[in-house]
Amino acid sequence: SDFKSLHLSQNVLKAVEDLGYQSPSPVQAQAIPAVLSGCDVMAAAQTGTGKTAAFLLPSLDRLGHARRGQGPLMLVVTPTRELAQQIDEVSSVICRHTGHHAVVLVGGVGYEPQKKALKKGCDLLVATPGRLIDLLNQGFADLSQVQTLVLDEADRMLDMGFIRDIRRIVKETPSSRQTLLFSATLSDDVLSNTRELVHDPARIEI
Ligand code: AMP
Repeated sequence: SDFKSLHLSQNVLKAVEDLGYQSPSPVQAQAIPAVLSGCDVMAAAQTGTGKTAAFLLPSLDRLGHARRGQGPLMLVVTPTRELAQQIDEVSSVICRHTGHHAVVLVGGVGYEPQKKALKKGCDLLVATPGRLIDLLNQGFADLSQVQTLVLDEADRMLDMGFIRDIRRIVKETPSSRQTLLFSATLSDDVLSNTRELVHDPARIEI
């Protein structure tokens, strides 16, 4: 199979070329058409399967024109700083071609640069739950414009005790959003804890 047959825009195909990917991984081949169709997605995919590009490529493609200066249109919530940085590395390559602007919010670093970045506005926000909650509580993050919400490594976020934070974050986003949930496994625990966060999702298991 070929990225060109997945109906991604020319800009995003150029980003794929920059990333050096020759052909879509199995999770990409299944998730990209589902995300482009606009439906919610629940995907069982471990780290190393190409899941980051599986959600970033089609979502950023769907987002349309950058409108930096207002709240983010896309939010990715991920359990750790390291994962947030990996996501940012891939998104920066794609955003170079789509014109979107990304901001990363993680713990363990100062608040001021993040507050300043949020004030300037962004299209894509990549965040760990704790820091995002802090900045929501301080009135610096506005999730009311989010069209696409990604819950990355959902099983790990549950294991780390982030479920209350996740629910709070989701509540700040419009109910009309598209929700993409990625998890190493879609266990009963994951399914029961996330049932009301996704709407009629396409299930992807690789
Ligand atoms: P991830 O599962 O998103 O953490 O990605 C794991 C690794 O696979 C990363 O180093 C990516 O650069 C790489 N990767 C993702 N998609 C592809 C692809 N279609 N072809 C080759 N490498 C890829």
